[in-house]
Amino acid sequence: METIDRIYLDYAATTPVDVRVAQAMLPYFTELFGNPSSAHFFGQQTEAVLTTSRQKVASLLNTQPNEIVFTSGGTESNNLALRGVALAQREKKGANHLLVSEIEHHAVLHTAKQLADHFGFELEFLPVDEYGMVSPEDVRNMIRPKTALVSVIYANNEIGTINPIRAIADACHEKKVIFHSDAVQAAAHLPIDVRIEGVDLLTIGAHKFYGPKGIGALFIHRGTPIMPLNTGGGQENDLRAGTENIPYIVGLATALELARQDLKDNTERMTQMRDNLISTVLGKIKRVKLTGHPLLRLPNHVSFAFEGMNSNYLLTLLDAAGFACSSGSACKAGLSKPSEVLLAMGFSKNWAKGSLRVTLGRQTTQDQIQAFCEILPTLVEKARSF
Ligand SMILES: *Cc1c(COP(=O)(O)O)cnc(C)c1O
Repeated sequence: METIDRIYLDYAATTPVDVRVAQAMLPYFTELFGNPSSAHFFGQQTEAVLTTSRQKVASLLNTQPNEIVFTSGGTESNNLALRGVALAQREKKGANHLLVSEIEHHAVLHTAKQLADHFGFELEFLPVDEYGMVSPEDVRNMIRPKTALVSVIYANNEIGTINPIRAIADACHEKKVIFHSDAVQAAAHLPIDVRIEGVDLLTIGAHKFYGPKGIGALFIHRGTPIMPLNTGGGQENDLRAGTENIPYIVGLATALELARQDLKDNTERMTQMRDNLISTVLGKIKRVKLTGHPLLRLPNHVSFAFEGMNSNYLLTLLDAAGFACSSGSACKAGLSKPSEVLLAMGFSKNWAKGSLRVTLGRQTTQDQIQAFCEILPTLVEKARSF
């Protein structure tokens, strides 16, 4: 029998589907099941909702519907952006150089590494400062005539730092280089406008903003050279073949719309809890640092490094006490290696092994944060003594 109250503080890993989103999706599994490519009535019904969903997403990101491609999630959007642009740019002008930041999500990092290891591209890493931020000046200096693509994460999943995306986009465009940004975390919390940001490609994924897992989108600015990864029936503007996942596309569009509606209130509420949590932990515990930028960070995102501690011990103790947190990226759980992101930011191994990420969400309350702050010092002490 479950005897403890479980508190979820890992909203950067994933979020529950909003009930309103689930309700909007439901009819498209059963009554409204036609294939949007079919010419008959059933197909027209789902083609219509595909069109309105695409319009909704495009208008929320301030772009045109034909610049939105639906994918199976953030990972696939990043794969399509990197591999698709790299291959097209090499074909078009012999470009063979890729520039990505040191703190990309694995969906970007491992795609770039594969392009380097197996497809003959040269991969170079943009450094980050102590806050995990990329400098537009470095981008400007490191771009070469043969650069096919620059990719920089909008807001980092592990440390919450928000990059100066507009300035990086400007640096790329001065040199006529294509710029992609992984905005999977950012889209949940910031009113992203692709025109203001000036990006050529931008990745979003629904399950980070109370939509379903397994659905994402890629904004591709009109005219950007890109090769499809999925070839077949010509769906999604010939860029992502396969019968469209209508219920999930409806889910993504609905979830993004709701996220935007509640953005201001949620941001204020979460920023307050976030800053409360940060100052309490820094005040109560010794040999701890906030990781990532203190101000230019996601409103729901808190991350620390504890010296002389292994984060897996702490996560296990927290879990036993009912608190679900993370050491950084969910994909890395299980391994007890020092965080690559923290190492890139200049932390020593003795600090980088002791990372903790606490991410807040719509269901988080101040009481939960207080309970967390009360238990954390004892658990850190225990984890340090192992
Ligand atoms: C979660 C996440 C992804 C992966 O998205 P999926 O939809 O889970 O494939 C990519 N990038 C960032 C920054 C993320 O946080």
